[in-house]
Amino acid sequence: MESLQDTIAAVATPLGEAGLGVIRISGPTAISIANRIFRSKKVHDLNQVPTHTCHFGVITAMNPSPLAPPPQQGEGNRQTYPLPAEGEGKGEGLIDEVVVSIFRTPHSYTGEDVVEISAHGSPFVLQTVLNLCLREGARLAGPGEFTQRAFLHGKMDLTQAEAVADLIRSKTDQAQAAALAQLQGHLAAEVRSLRNDLLPLLAHIEVGLDHSDEDHAFLRREEFLKKCGRSQAALDQILASARLGKILREGLRIAIVGRPNVGKSSLLNALLREERAIVTPIPGTTRDTLEESVDWDGIPVVLTDTAGLRSGSSDLAERLGMERTRQAVAQADWVIGVFDGSAPSTPEDRQVMEACLPKPHVWAINKIDLPSRWDSGAFSGPYGQAPVAPLSAKTGVGLDRLVQWVKTLALKETSSTGQAQWLLNARHRAALERARDALRRAREAAQSEAFEECVALEIQSALQALGEIIGETATEDLLDQIFSQFCVGK
Ligand code: GDP
Repeated sequence: MESLQDTIAAVATPLGEAGLGVIRISGPTAISIANRIFRSKKVHDLNQVPTHTCHFGVITAMNPSPLAPPPQQGEGNRQTYPLPAEGEGKGEGLIDEVVVSIFRTPHSYTGEDVVEISAHGSPFVLQTVLNLCLREGARLAGPGEFTQRAFLHGKMDLTQAEAVADLIRSKTDQAQAAALAQLQGHLAAEVRSLRNDLLPLLAHIEVGLDHSDEDHAFLRREEFLKKCGRSQAALDQILASARLGKILREGLRIAIVGRPNVGKSSLLNALLREERAIVTPIPGTTRDTLEESVDWDGIPVVLTDTAGLRSGSSDLAERLGMERTRQAVAQADWVIGVFDGSAPSTPEDRQVMEACLPKPHVWAINKIDLPSRWDSGAFSGPYGQAPVAPLSAKTGVGLDRLVQWVKTLALKETSSTGQAQWLLNARHRAALERARDALRRAREAAQSEAFEECVALEIQSALQALGEIIGETATEDLLDQIFSQFCVGK
């Protein structure tokens, strides 16, 4: 971890042409660094302005600027700054007109002195202003370092810091709402309340589960088991929403599979027209298939079409096609099996049905605008369980019903715990599972009348695991690992 004594700076907005771009500076010398590159008719010294104020002026590469007032007592060191680089003298080395916002410690995002320079959103301007900050003594911020400082100064706990990243990445209203709830501390509050429930249990053990007075010992043990069980159930309930958290973060994956020419791509396109497409791609998706993201009632959905299948009709191409279909099914949460209703079913269709069975699925009989030649007995035996949606990707008939079915069926499963109450990530989940397992072992130990120390040890490890979630017992390595996943400027 880098020193908190450094003043750090970075461009906080994406590098591209935009109306505005923001350079963020944080640390003990943030304000004086900004003061050395900022000139304003009204403000002569940013060090003197109150917190939470904005000031219009210019950023200049020339230091000191001829516009600056003569140095006053105690300001003599202003004279010693480096001379402007060659060419900077023209126009007094002016870089841009900006608004500078001042936030003084501790009332800032990081808890330190923070300056935000809002410039015009030109990558060149932003880089030049950043370079000036670095020239004046700031260090380039590492990934997530602003948020890491906010965490280290107690401005937010670890779940809130993670929520910043989730909020920035959220693509639908449900994902955004869940991330915001976490940013506002909902998950942390739940974890703290679980810890507060467990702490008295430790005291309970210290008094002694077994006591010479048999009746009291029995009561204490019963009570301990009951309370421990209650915490265990609460953990189970939070863990039940883990799947929804994953879906909100990564999207619900629905694969569209079928033999060549049944109309998979046409169906994908028709579904995209029907729904609101999400333009930003979801990272980490497979490349073999065509993928598009849509917003289904707040749940980000990734539709994949096994497009690679149409590569010819040789045996090898067909075998590769089936392999791709199987892969697509394996990676999907849900599957739409597509068949050509204007042709009799083929052995290949059968293979497709077979491949779909391991995952929840619906059958789409496409091309119903053409005379039907599909045999009604095609979906028999194990294939007869799924809903069948006759439709035409070409005319749009039947599409609504398919969408409604998949939405209802797929979303029912994800909303079992109500709405997205917690946006659990893999780290939270692992820690919650550790806490739950420790509580289970604590109860078993108490039931089997093991030594009290064993019971106490398990409660302590549950407390430790819960503490890790909010960062109270997190190691430096864990913190570095979490914050390194952020972008620079966050
Ligand atoms: P894929 O190979 O399964 O992706 O199939 P495509 O989407 O490329 O469609 C294969 C052919 O079937 C194309 O010529 C489409 O225009 C046609 N097609 C797709 N859906 C329909 C439909 O609902 N009705 C009719 N009449 N033709 C369709």
